[in-house]
Amino acid sequence: MPPLSQSVSEQLKASLHQARMDLLETVRGRTESPDDEAPRIGPLAHQGQSDDAPQAEMLSHNEQHLADHETALLHEIDVAIGKLEAGGAGICESCGRDIPEARLLATPTVRLCIECQQELEHDRHIGRGPSM
Ligand SMILES: [Zn+2]
Repeated sequence: MPPLSQSVSEQLKASLHQARMDLLETVRGRTESPDDEAPRIGPLAHQGQSDDAPQAEMLSHNEQHLADHETALLHEIDVAIGKLEAGGAGICESCGRDIPEARLLATPTVRLCIECQQELEHDRHIGRGPSM
């Protein structure tokens, strides 16, 4: 039995893809000025670089401008999408129990159940000292 219902799975997938697009859009907005619409590549520039995949190039170009936390977030999103497609979403990576659907919907990239998350944060706080 799959841990997630079809509708929850669809919602998660949609919000993950949306989050991914938003993230790339943010990066694009930061790295390209709005009045830079004119193509910088002249018609002759295409000669010699035949049929490289332009989309892949664009993506790697964008990813070069990702800040560290954005790279991490993008990775989280990709991992979550991958798990969703592989049917492994909604399962705590630490203890293997089901993650409540409400928690998943609130944070689609979540990988731990509440208890494991709290334990992790508790450990971090001890390591770092009190933060509140
Ligand atoms: Zn857990």
